[in-house]
Amino acid sequence: MIGFGTLDAWVGRTIGLKHLPTRYDIEAYQLRRLNETIAYARSQSPFYRMRSDWPDLLELSDLGDIARLPFTTAHDLVRSDPSLIALPLRDAARLVNIPTSGTSGQQKRLFFTEADIEATVDYFENGMATIVRPGSCVAVAFPAQRPDSVGDLLMRGLNRLGAFPVALPVDGALDTLVGALRELQPAAIAGMPVTLGAAARRMETDGGSPLRIETALVSADSVSPSLKAALAVIWGAEVFEHWGMTETGYGGALACEAHDGLHIRETDLYLEVIDAGSGRVLPSGYEGEIVLTTLCRRGLPLIRYRTGDIGGIVETRCHCGSVLRRLRLGGRIAEPTLLERGGSLQTELIDDIIFSVDGVVDFAVELKTGKEARLAVDVVAAPQVLEDVRSALLHHPIVGPVLQSEKINIAVELAAKSAFSLCRKRRVRMTPGEE
Ligand SMILES: [Zn+2]
Repeated sequence: MIGFGTLDAWVGRTIGLKHLPTRYDIEAYQLRRLNETIAYARSQSPFYRMRSDWPDLLELSDLGDIARLPFTTAHDLVRSDPSLIALPLRDAARLVNIPTSGTSGQQKRLFFTEADIEATVDYFENGMATIVRPGSCVAVAFPAQRPDSVGDLLMRGLNRLGAFPVALPVDGALDTLVGALRELQPAAIAGMPVTLGAAARRMETDGGSPLRIETALVSADSVSPSLKAALAVIWGAEVFEHWGMTETGYGGALACEAHDGLHIRETDLYLEVIDAGSGRVLPSGYEGEIVLTTLCRRGLPLIRYRTGDIGGIVETRCHCGSVLRRLRLGGRIAEPTLLERGGSLQTELIDDIIFSVDGVVDFAVELKTGKEARLAVDVVAAPQVLEDVRSALLHHPIVGPVLQSEKINIAVELAAKSAFSLCRKRRVRMTPGEE
């Protein structure tokens, strides 16, 4: 098992202590930062200044008081009118536009200052130091060409800790990526689950030499049990999950050697978990929507931002010794898809079923609902795997009966080798049928 210490010493230094932090230290720091963030946002950001739904109270006396403030949503970021930016535009280092998953083509707009970006690089350096040895080669399977992209910031953090990061070619064919990996022989790899899953499965089936990779950091998408198992079997890799999004400044929470939840980046983020329906804050241990408040962000502070991600917060001390609170992830908020004959499908389950079939390298799925319902699955795999995919779907204890009772026609076909982007999340694409 890999583990080179906890993040606690770094947290202590970052919040200005000369000793390891206690919960009391961290919470006192967070309360101070929350009050600073609220005062700063109210005075500098048109959005927060103009909100009419803020209470008069602006000084929190304990962390729980934050529940008296209204939520900020993805819609506020897309609309950006009034702007959430808390600085004149010329002082913001970067404007980051994130394409949203909807079809409207609207984008969230986020800004970071140089200091905001530096905080992320510092977190990446110290977070990666808990799972990567200095001096080791680390393959970075995120796009890293664009300055201040997640891959670029991760490479900068890895360089600082004395590792040797190498950006993999993730914008071309899968075989190019796999060839680069075999040549590099890295001790560790970091990337999105879909990228690492496809690379590992290709290496398992292409007849080339096997590769041992000690550590795999997977980030930016939900990590299914079958993917974790595949990386462990094919590369012998210990898989560390990371949770983050552009809104968290990329870095958000990182697993430790205990693999029992992800330690939250408490120097920079205050997280709450709420009931998505009522908006009520849930006690620790309960699962709900993750809401975040940034503690140091200057470019575009977020206050009670609803992430749309599901999770629960664990307060108890971790086996690794860290006092940092942990996040247990539960996926994205997703409505089950309602079908013609009254059944419903959790579409993310379909992703996991297909990837759990041995030999599936990559895939795309489209569900056409309506009278002539059809599930079209295009897979990158050997031809004999097609029937296994079909059978896995039909015999799954939850999905199988729904597919059958709804009379959904399943079409599994081979896709061209390089049909899919290696850095795009795999999701079931939905097409409503004709009425
Ligand atoms: Zn731990």
